[in-house]
Amino acid sequence: MNSPRVDRIRVPNPFVEGRTCVYVIRTDPVTMIDTGIATEKASHDLGEGLREQGLTPADIKRVILTHKHIDHIGNAWKIQQDHGAEIFIHECETASINNVDPTGNRFADIARRRLDDWRAPEEVRPDTRDVAGPHWTIESAEVSPLFDGDRLAIADGEIEVIHTPGHTMGSVCFKFNNYLFSGDHVLPNISPNVGGGDLKNRGLLSHYLDSLAKVRDLTRDEKLIVMPGHGDPMESITERCNELIHHHEERLDQIVKILKRESGLTVYEIAQRLFGTMEGFHVVLGCAEAYSHLEMLMDQSRVVEQECMFSRP
Ligand SMILES: [Zn+2]
Ligand SMILES: [Zn+2]
Repeated sequence: MNSPRVDRIRVPNPFVEGRTCVYVIRTDPVTMIDTGIATEKASHDLGEGLREQGLTPADIKRVILTHKHIDHIGNAWKIQQDHGAEIFIHECETASINNVDPTGNRFADIARRRLDDWRAPEEVRPDTRDVAGPHWTIESAEVSPLFDGDRLAIADGEIEVIHTPGHTMGSVCFKFNNYLFSGDHVLPNISPNVGGGDLKNRGLLSHYLDSLAKVRDLTRDEKLIVMPGHGDPMESITERCNELIHHHEERLDQIVKILKRESGLTVYEIAQRLFGTMEGFHVVLGCAEAYSHLEMLMDQSRVVEQECMFSRP
């Protein structure tokens, strides 16, 4: 059986990860994996990228999303509104499609509560509405939920849904023939922030490490090309998963060392020790990353918390 063609379109993205990879599986129904960020430029460039492959947005019948981040879901609503495509995302992230908040206030509220818990000083806090809100061109759309183990029927095979929570709670990878679409779960050049990508949820690091273990051996058992959400395809996922696991283990140890030297630090202070001076949204990302590690250290009884101050037991 010949595998259908898979095209990659790299859509510009103002975030540090660089361009977002959008993939199109050329079969029936023509299926798009992720859609780029919600700006008019990205939407335009996505249309241009499709045209270069001999397609138009009207050819896309199904959109499947690896996770709820704006640089992945941004143009899904438009493809549905203009051309009626079906949209799918993991069941715990459907609200990011069918109940979008164009003001960004909902996100700003959650971020404010977390920054309070982390004891981030008022003067360093970013205006979080800048991060989620007014400047995105996005509207609510209809969406269907995905669950771990789902198999979406498609000519020439099926697309298997592998739930890989961690980067966000509803992150998924998709396996189709000899392709593994890894979203932001496993990227070739970046260690995805764990904690800052899903401020509503807790325990993300332990989910993330479990999810790395879940996909680590997939390319050892079978020859798969890994297609990430940013960056170039990889021939193996095993080594990268091991590197990421090692990176987080080192960070856990680093925090323990910090708390051996200084006792009774806030999350913000620990993030400063780890990352130095943080500015803008990096305050949220740095604190969230530190906190996700602290949660795991508390589970392991290596750290204790009292009134938002952390110490060795
Ligand atoms: Zn992401
Ligand atoms: Zn991303």
